Amino acid sequence: MTTEELIEAGNRYLFSTYKRFPIVLVRGKGARVWDSDGKEYLDFLAGIAVCSLGHSHPRVVRAIQAQAETLTHVSNLYHIEPQIRLAKRLVENSFADRVFFCNSGAEAIEGAIKLARKYGHERMGGDRHEIIAMDNSFHGRTLAAVTATGQKKYQAGFEPLPEGFRHVPYDDLEAAAAAVSDRTCAILVEPVQGEGGIRIPSPEYLKGLRKLCDDRGLLLIFDEVQTGMGRTGHLFAHEAWGVTPDVMTLAKALGNGYPLGALLAREDVASVFVPGNHASTFGGNPLGMAAGIAVMDILLDGNTLPHCRAMGTRFRSGLESLKERHGVVREVRGLGLMTGVELSVPGDDIVVRAMKKGLLINCTAGNVLRFVPPFVVTEDDVDEAVGILDGVMGES
Ligand SMILES: *Cc1c(COP(=O)(O)O)cnc(C)c1O
Repeated sequence: MTTEELIEAGNRYLFSTYKRFPIVLVRGKGARVWDSDGKEYLDFLAGIAVCSLGHSHPRVVRAIQAQAETLTHVSNLYHIEPQIRLAKRLVENSFADRVFFCNSGAEAIEGAIKLARKYGHERMGGDRHEIIAMDNSFHGRTLAAVTATGQKKYQAGFEPLPEGFRHVPYDDLEAAAAAVSDRTCAILVEPVQGEGGIRIPSPEYLKGLRKLCDDRGLLLIFDEVQTGMGRTGHLFAHEAWGVTPDVMTLAKALGNGYPLGALLAREDVASVFVPGNHASTFGGNPLGMAAGIAVMDILLDGNTLPHCRAMGTRFRSGLESLKERHGVVREVRGLGLMTGVELSVPGDDIVVRAMKKGLLINCTAGNVLRFVPPFVVTEDDVDEAVGILDGVMGES
């Protein structure tokens, strides 16, 4: 099929749930992808913060190949060696004592909500089931996750929404404190808001939430689906603030493209789930676990995270220079290789023009260009991206 025929067929046979750009990506290697017409792109989106180690990372590819030849899937009715090994890696490198594996971010959030409610019912006394979440947050599209998401546009038409969620402004400790009642069991927050526009909270915010949860006996849940797995230059973003949650969700980059999600918690919280409470057919299957183990090994190699931080710093200083040259750039913000550029105009046009010049990025929250490139980007890649943006912004 020609590219045009493919796109036409896609529009005919698939649900129209996505607004797609008119290209078909067929191959990727490192920080580059190629479309069906052979055009090369520098990929600063990486499947939206999924392929953080770059496309087709040889160690991840080898791990998946070897595991596929050995054992692809067995039920969680049996012990699964790679699952145990990945859980051990995650526990040894985080605040958590236990891990539950699933297949996506929304599923991890769903698990966190169920865990918090059960903890509230069994351990907190009274009728504690309410979760405080943030305005402009994003937690996924299942019914509970989309209800936790603090953006009405994602909820419209799907009522009745499950009850038990309250929203308060992000980065506002007083509002969070005021929302706590004798029904509250947990506070759910992204350490850096991703879809909400790469919003980095003020230095005292996460610490303040930790104290609030400690004072009121609440669970603190960090949604690190986007910020986790090295994205911010730390294995988990909360390390940047020295604040630990009670529960954490992971997904996106956990499998570097193999669909993986995880729910992590401290022992005293995880222990409210007993056999029969929660499950997933595919969750923790050997194939995905092999990918996750390879990802963890690479992230912990001692070079990857420092490189991520260095490239993030270089990229942002390049973007700051664009701010001096182009009036549309309002603010550059980010941590590690998670960067946003807030514009004074909608960003869609710049995204399309960058794509035509061979740079893949996206726009979130209407006017924030989002850059989540793979950690394998080089100084030249970073400078090339800044150069393309410079050209694109100069045209407008
Ligand atoms: C992407 C995202 C989700 C949802 O993940 P899916 O895998 O799409 O279900 C949840 N939380 C955050 C912070 C995300 O960025």
